[in-house]
Amino acid sequence: MRSPLVVVEDGVIVAVDENGVPPAGMPVVDLGDRTLLPGLVDAHVHLVLPGVPDPVAAAAAPEATLLMNALRAAASCLDVGITTVRDLGDRDYVTLRLREEIALRPHAGPHLLVSGPPITTARGHCWFLGGALESPAGLTEAVRVRATRGVDLIKIMASGGEITPGSRSWQAQYTAAELRSVVVESHRLGLPVAAHAHAVDAMERALAAGVDTVEHGTFRTPTGVEPDRRLIERVAEARLPVSVTTGFSPAGPPLDESARVRIERTLAAAVDMRDAGVRIVCASDAGISDQKQHGLLPHGVIRLVEAGFSSAEALRAATSTAAEACGLVRKGRVAPGFDADLLAVTGDPLRDITAILAVAAVYRGGRRVRCFGSKNTPEFRF
Ligand SMILES: [Zn+2]
Repeated sequence: MRSPLVVVEDGVIVAVDENGVPPAGMPVVDLGDRTLLPGLVDAHVHLVLPGVPDPVAAAAAPEATLLMNALRAAASCLDVGITTVRDLGDRDYVTLRLREEIALRPHAGPHLLVSGPPITTARGHCWFLGGALESPAGLTEAVRVRATRGVDLIKIMASGGEITPGSRSWQAQYTAAELRSVVVESHRLGLPVAAHAHAVDAMERALAAGVDTVEHGTFRTPTGVEPDRRLIERVAEARLPVSVTTGFSPAGPPLDESARVRIERTLAAAVDMRDAGVRIVCASDAGISDQKQHGLLPHGVIRLVEAGFSSAEALRAATSTAAEACGLVRKGRVAPGFDADLLAVTGDPLRDITAILAVAAVYRGGRRVRCFGSKNTPEFRF
């Protein structure tokens, strides 16, 4: 039996043949008995934060330390097969320097989209990343400053969040009109907008404002997690992607009881959203705590399957749907015209999703950037 063949030219997939014969004279890489997937796309990370218990203290580190953190985090993404990352919050635009560095050395990290410091309110969620504004009057100016710096998108904190002392995730931080002013200015400058929104009313306002992705989408209220059926239908109708960030690092400390219950309910809400036709993205929010270490995305995919997604649905949420949500038309699929960002794993993740943890090789733009084959796998030839 012949093996499926992926033909790559200049870093781009030009043909996929399920039962192929290699074109004459073309060098062949035989990956052996592996499953080839698109490289994973993590649409929500914080590379400058090192996954420690106190993100506020970690963010106060000198810039050189933040850059080192980010380099280390970027490398660990490739280790687990994440070939594209959208960073949704750094400090001092450190990820723009990282983006340059990785553009020169593809084996140093994934393809990067970066937002710079998230826009937030005075002492609001993630103020410690440096993007807090005293007054909403500065919102459009804040967008323009980021555009001038060269960010790929705008991140705004539409609600409070979990990791910021004094912030309440069930409270909105901006009115719909304020969010709309950010969207209008960002779109005028060609930049999409990602809105962090836990609170139900923040999700409503983000939808009304026309943001491009909702981050977290946890339907938080003062009393817990309360999915709103009408809102879910409207999000589905608007084709607005929602990044679900319910994965945790197995090596991290266990969740306390209240967090565990909240995560279960959030996962149930994600299943409701899927059933209603919402475009679900599986993202990690890696970096923000010791339960959110870099490279955790595959565990988030597994978590979705445990919650009731099919393996194919969960994989799409971390590949093709994630890429589309990020506006990346050449990422997230093994298909002609797409970048040859590939992940080879041992086993079949469609039958057993944990096979995505058995990484054998990772390619970026047709270049091998990781290889975990060994002498024990002689079929693994280059
Ligand atoms: Zn985040």
